[in-house]
Amino acid sequence: MHITHGFAGTVGNTPLIRLRSLSDATGCDILAKAEFLNPGGSVKDRAALGIINDAEKRGELTPGGTVVEGTAGNTGIGLAHVAQAKGYKTIIVIPDTQSIEKMQYLRALGAEVRAVPAKPYRDPDNYNHVAKRLAASIPGGFWANQFDNTANRDQHIKTTGPEIWRDTDGRIDGFVSVVGTGGTLAGVSTYLKSQNPKIRTVCADPHGAAMWSWIKRGNLDFNSGSSVTEGIGQGRVTANMADAPIDDAYRIADQPIVEMVYAMLHQEGLFLGASAALNLCGAYRLAKELGPGHVIVTILCDSGNRYVSRLFNQSWLKEKNLEPRSGNLSFLSDVFKDT
Ligand code: PMP
Repeated sequence: MHITHGFAGTVGNTPLIRLRSLSDATGCDILAKAEFLNPGGSVKDRAALGIINDAEKRGELTPGGTVVEGTAGNTGIGLAHVAQAKGYKTIIVIPDTQSIEKMQYLRALGAEVRAVPAKPYRDPDNYNHVAKRLAASIPGGFWANQFDNTANRDQHIKTTGPEIWRDTDGRIDGFVSVVGTGGTLAGVSTYLKSQNPKIRTVCADPHGAAMWSWIKRGNLDFNSGSSVTEGIGQGRVTANMADAPIDDAYRIADQPIVEMVYAMLHQEGLFLGASAALNLCGAYRLAKELGPGHVIVTILCDSGNRYVSRLFNQSWLKEKNLEPRSGNLSFLSDVFKDT
């Protein structure tokens, strides 16, 4: 029988979709890995599974244990699914600025949700630090620590990278990814470079984050902008990102990201979140830089269904001055600016 086993068996092996619109516009094959088709709906199902499997192996998570994590969304969803499947409890510590839908969703999955006041990372009451202390105070508590637990990156070295290599028959020339924890970019880049060091690896960064400066200039300067993207936009070098073999970085503004969300819906029938759209802006730019005939791969991190009240709400877009303008691919000249 050709079957899979439970939630864990259904994570990964996502399809690699050739995007006709962006491929035609560049003369390259622009291929996007459909991570929104993971059973919990995002690329973070992989990290959640990798972190829990690793913790079990190391004896840090034992029967009857509780998985604790500070997360604003996708990782918590992945952890809650995996924890249910394996018989653990889940406690999610979440900044109280996050939408009520996310908290309701996590509770529906069986997680205990503790909302805490939003504080910067340097503050001891930041949600990540609260999660760490909480895990230490609960018998059987395990802090997932997605940012600095390299079981996250390792899962991409073990699964996402090899799947991309296999599905392109090793013909990939470039890979582009956003950074939240950095697990996806660092893990996939590490694997691909181990197969062929000439593969070009690029970080696509939103405004208001520091990875662009870190990769281009070796410092952690933020640019003054901000972004409506969620789940990404890192300000420090996480353990997952440390020593990652990254060749270049692009900084891309929200306007082309929103245009890309709508272009993919209208031209490809794909309903995507903003981080996926940022990845596609980066993939287009890399294709233009490498020239026709190359194979570029990127990640469709999650679906637009997580952002209906924002990216697909015209009054919200208007308030942010981000209404899509072009309705075609003419906005793509804006992805070269690094402003
Ligand atoms: N996109 C979305 C929507 C996410 O939630 C995340 C993870 N926070 C990412 C992209 C980035 O993934 P990673 O943590 O592997 O860098």
